[in-house]
Amino acid sequence: MKTALTIAGTDPTGGAGVQADLKVFHHFGVYGLSVVSALTVQNTEKVSATSRIEGALIEAQLNTLINDIRPDALKTGMLLSSDAVRAVAKAVRAYDLHNLVIDPVVRSSSGAQLLEDEALALLKSELFPLAEVITPNIDEAAALTGIAISDAGDMEEAAQELKQLGPEVIIITGGHFKEETLELVYDGRTFHRIRGKKIKGEYHGTGCAFSAAVAALLARGTLVADAARGAKDFVEKAITHAYDIGKGMRLLHV
Ligand code: PLP
Repeated sequence: MKTALTIAGTDPTGGAGVQADLKVFHHFGVYGLSVVSALTVQNTEKVSATSRIEGALIEAQLNTLINDIRPDALKTGMLLSSDAVRAVAKAVRAYDLHNLVIDPVVRSSSGAQLLEDEALALLKSELFPLAEVITPNIDEAAALTGIAISDAGDMEEAAQELKQLGPEVIIITGGHFKEETLELVYDGRTFHRIRGKKIKGEYHGTGCAFSAAVAALLARGTLVADAARGAKDFVEKAITHAYDIGKGMRLLHV
């Protein structure tokens, strides 16, 4: 049985964070492991509070787990604090973990801050060089590079700049231009463009689901470009059949 580990925040709706990642891993037939790196108070309308998990406690969770079960792939989501970023980097180095997917979660779509300002620089300097893949959306790519992204050319420029920070592959998600969506994959040599059709509405946790799907597929031995395509198809279906069970954003059908 292949295994994938998520290091992420909790989400009581199950639409994002740890709870969503575990559902996605299960969908792909990969055994899901989880380490909680932050806690959120939220529903489908808003994130009303966040709380850090102490760095030492994140380290203890990682060491205790990985000394027992070594993940075939891992992803990070909402890390919130610098201490969380440091704890993950330390474990990835100490255990020489491969197939690290970083979803550089900065803000929720409702506007809540999910990564503290000082942690952003550390994420770039400490964790990005260890990554197989990073999966920023347009807003995150803009926050990480300072490039305002309004078309596919801007996405390419941001991907090239992010590549300089050390990840093997950059996937910028959620380009919405005219009637199309665009996921841009850049490995330092070639741009792959995955196009899709726009689907109306507000959906919660699409970034989490995408990065978890990439991690699950890497755990299964899929090449990154194919994993990106598989993750895109998966999220598109999960959006098409989303649940409208809360008062706010729809929840993905995973
Ligand atoms: N809560 C947690 C724990 C998350 O990790 C994320 C996104 O990564 C969110 C909330 C926000 O999700 P969305 O912006 O899709 O609503």
